[in-house]
Amino acid sequence: MNLSSDILDISMPLHPGIPTWPGSDGIRILGTKRIDEGDAVNVSRIDCDLHVGTHVDAPWHFLKNGQTVDALSLDILIGPAVVLEIPEVALITSRELQVSNLSEGTERVLLRTRNSVRWARGVAEFKEDYTALSADAALWLARRRIRLIGIDYLSIQPFEKNERTHEILMRSNIAILEGLDLSRVCAGRYELICLPLKLMAVEGAPARAILRRCPDKREPTPDIGGAI
Ligand SMILES: [Zn+2]
Repeated sequence: MNLSSDILDISMPLHPGIPTWPGSDGIRILGTKRIDEGDAVNVSRIDCDLHVGTHVDAPWHFLKNGQTVDALSLDILIGPAVVLEIPEVALITSRELQVSNLSEGTERVLLRTRNSVRWARGVAEFKEDYTALSADAALWLARRRIRLIGIDYLSIQPFEKNERTHEILMRSNIAILEGLDLSRVCAGRYELICLPLKLMAVEGAPARAILRRCPDKREPTPDIGGAI
C-alpha cells in the first residue's frame, strides 16, 4: 500500500498466519461467495479473537465492572504520542521509564522494544519471552498521568507472571494498545490515530493504528538489526 511518507502504518496485517496468543484461534477468514466459483460477488466473513494483531484492551478485560471497548474515549486514542525506544531489556521497569526523559505533559507513550525485530523478521510463532511492562512501571505511568500506553507485542504484561500490569493500568484509566508493529518507526514525537472497531459491550477490539510524523521531525528509517 502506498501511504504518504508522513503516515506510518503501525498495524499488523490480519491474516490466518498471524502470530497469536497460545490457545487462541486467531483469525479465520471465510469466503462465503467467490466470483471465481460462479458467484456474482466476493463476500467474506471473519471469525476473530478480539485480541488478535493490533488491538485495544478495555478495562472489562480484567475488571468485573470495567468499561467496555465502545466506551473508550477517542480523545485518548487520538493525539500527540511519544515513541520510546527501549531495545535492550526483557522487562521494562520504572527505571527504564525514569531515564527516558519523557517530557512534561506527555500523555501517550508507545514502547519500541526488541519485539519489533521479530515483526521485521517475520517470526510467525508466539514467543513467551517478549518484552513487557512491569507492575511498578505501570504505577510510574499512572503517577505521570499517562493516558495511553502501547507496546509492540501481543500483551503489555509479562507472560504467565503475576505482574498485575493490566489491572494497574486499567484501574488508572490508561488505555492499552497492544500488537503494534513499530519496526519501521524511530523514537520521537508523532501524532497517533488509533481507531478500534466499534464493537459493543466487549473487552477489546482490533484496531487500525497509524502515526503521523510531526512536520519538523522527518526521521530516517531505523536499523532493525539485532538479536531476537
Ligand atoms: Zn489484549
